[in-house]
Amino acid sequence: MLIAGNWKMNTDVSSSVELARGVIQESEHAGAVNVAVCPPAPLLSVVGEALAGSHVRLGAQNMYWVDSGAFTGEISAQMLSSLGCHYVIVGHSERRQYFGETDVEVNKKVRQSVKAGLVPIICVGERLNQRKAGKEQEVVAAQVQHALEGMEVRASDSFVIAYEPVWAIGTGETATPEQAQGMHKFIRTLVRQQFGNQIADGLHILYGGSMKPSNAEELLIQNDVDGGLIGGASLKADIFGQIIQAAQKL
Ligand code: PEP
Repeated sequence: MLIAGNWKMNTDVSSSVELARGVIQESEHAGAVNVAVCPPAPLLSVVGEALAGSHVRLGAQNMYWVDSGAFTGEISAQMLSSLGCHYVIVGHSERRQYFGETDVEVNKKVRQSVKAGLVPIICVGERLNQRKAGKEQEVVAAQVQHALEGMEVRASDSFVIAYEPVWAIGTGETATPEQAQGMHKFIRTLVRQQFGNQIADGLHILYGGSMKPSNAEELLIQNDVDGGLIGGASLKADIFGQIIQAAQKL
């Protein structure tokens, strides 16, 4: 089980450190649950220092796919690894929607992150009109297949997939446990076809989209839901802590 917080463009130097310390406290009894936080890029360093010695892992929210060079404003995978990042979120729907990130770019980022020893949290998910048209599996299959194309996978923990229906992100709407389970099972089948049983069975497939303490358990208890990627509810340590506890009970 993996519970990861996506802080998006929130917090600053002091509040990020305070939140990181709160998450460490909240996850003291997390047991076998892996916990991660993904602060904004400029705060990775201070949050990384705050997390040192704890078992809460550091993740970034984005990266560029080139090693180094004249790409003003971009961040390389190597920089993230040297900052102590374990994870990097790739292809979040907000990046696809507001910054025009394409499946081809997502694939380049996935391959580059793995090459640098990072674990990409690959986000996929359909928009509301696509679900209403009954195309959610078609959309998600294309996103998963593009993202994983040509990727070298040695172990089931070398990547993570987050199913985040776009209509549920930051909206307060959540997929029903049945909708989440159905899509997660479908994603695992796609991964099985490409990489075989061992990778598919060990893969963490996270649900994301308005997960909160009141719905965490019913989502996390589903067979193919192996954790959560949490936005809004990860910005308060005690609320995030309640989700960690829900995961820990299962
Ligand atoms: C996310 O941004 O990955 C997310 C799931 O956000 P929220 O929990 O706020 O819906």
